[in-house]
Amino acid sequence: MTAVTGPAASAVDLLLLGRSSDPGSERGVSCPGELPAASSPDLVDRARAAKQALGEQLFVLGHHYQRDEVIEFADVTGDSFKLARDAAGRPGARYIVFCGVHFMAESADILTGADQQVILPDLAAGCSMADMAGIGQVEDAWDELVDAGVADGTVPVTYMNSTAAIKAFTGEHGGTVCTSSNAERALRWAFEQGERVLFMPDQHLGRNTAVLKLGLDLSDCVVYDPHKPGGGLTAAQLRAARMVLWRGHCSVHGRFSVSSVNEVRARIPDVNVLVHPECRHDVVTAADAVGSTEMIIATLDAAPSGSAWAVGTELNLVRRLAGAHPDKRIVFLDKSVCYCSTMNRIDLPHLVWALESLQAGAVVGRIQVDEQVARWARVGLDRMLALPG
Ligand code: SF4
Repeated sequence: MTAVTGPAASAVDLLLLGRSSDPGSERGVSCPGELPAASSPDLVDRARAAKQALGEQLFVLGHHYQRDEVIEFADVTGDSFKLARDAAGRPGARYIVFCGVHFMAESADILTGADQQVILPDLAAGCSMADMAGIGQVEDAWDELVDAGVADGTVPVTYMNSTAAIKAFTGEHGGTVCTSSNAERALRWAFEQGERVLFMPDQHLGRNTAVLKLGLDLSDCVVYDPHKPGGGLTAAQLRAARMVLWRGHCSVHGRFSVSSVNEVRARIPDVNVLVHPECRHDVVTAADAVGSTEMIIATLDAAPSGSAWAVGTELNLVRRLAGAHPDKRIVFLDKSVCYCSTMNRIDLPHLVWALESLQAGAVVGRIQVDEQVARWARVGLDRMLALPG
């Protein structure tokens, strides 16, 4: 599977891609079925009825960034890694309906049995960050490291938010997958195996972890731009670097800025600014705390009544957290609306369509990872699971 090689797609691009065919991307395929109308008044009842009819055969996973109307039907919620593990822990479920994005459904398919089928209710629900690292681009980057004479001492570390093909490349080249919760452990392990890390595809998670957790200097990090010849780096720069960061980012978390932090501090006295490590380095250093989605949830659960929080992560989650903690003031860090446009593609009409199709015996939106790719990707995932605690 190859990925888009152009510059980062805008939210409008992603919405348009969902309506047409885009064989160069993991996302951007049209929905082949007849969706119920979004205005249909019986959607909730239909989803309930289909779920009940499918019973134990069905397991519905809901990522924290999904819409409320979808989360309502999730058997479990979580971040991408927790959900993949939850899927693996339900060998009795014949159908795993993954309400999230494409790379998450791929990981679930890799970690579940051959007799289980993973379904993404809208195949156009991709991830712009995952699309920023195509396998051909990564292989070219590795060739640059070989030419610079440093591939042997370089360990690839890839974030969960990547295609199965990139995870497989990582497994095959002695590296590990990581999440935002265990990126520090993954990097410490990688630096025991080699002297340099190729971190993909999120430059911000790589930089924030290397500098703030491992104590590396910003000057130890270089950015490899797949759209420039040689990644825009000289062989000498590759040799001198300890962290070679892929030029990728999350289009949601990348929007937060230091001015958002300053503005909320001026507006809300004693506010605590809590951000995700996919945010830019200057935003993370201006914040009071940084952590994964699960850490953000745990921090707000444990926060004292009356405390004030400005949270820099996806808006669906922040709104749900604000609703769950009426005794605390929880606001979104940015002034403008900041949903993940591809996560939001999974809505109630798509969920109803997927569930009713299953009820009628038709599997729609199945995600199936090539066997060879899955084998190596699993090596990368297993290395992550074996990381020292
Ligand atoms: S929030 Fe960012 S990383 Fe997550 S699916 Fe959306 S674009 Fe990808």
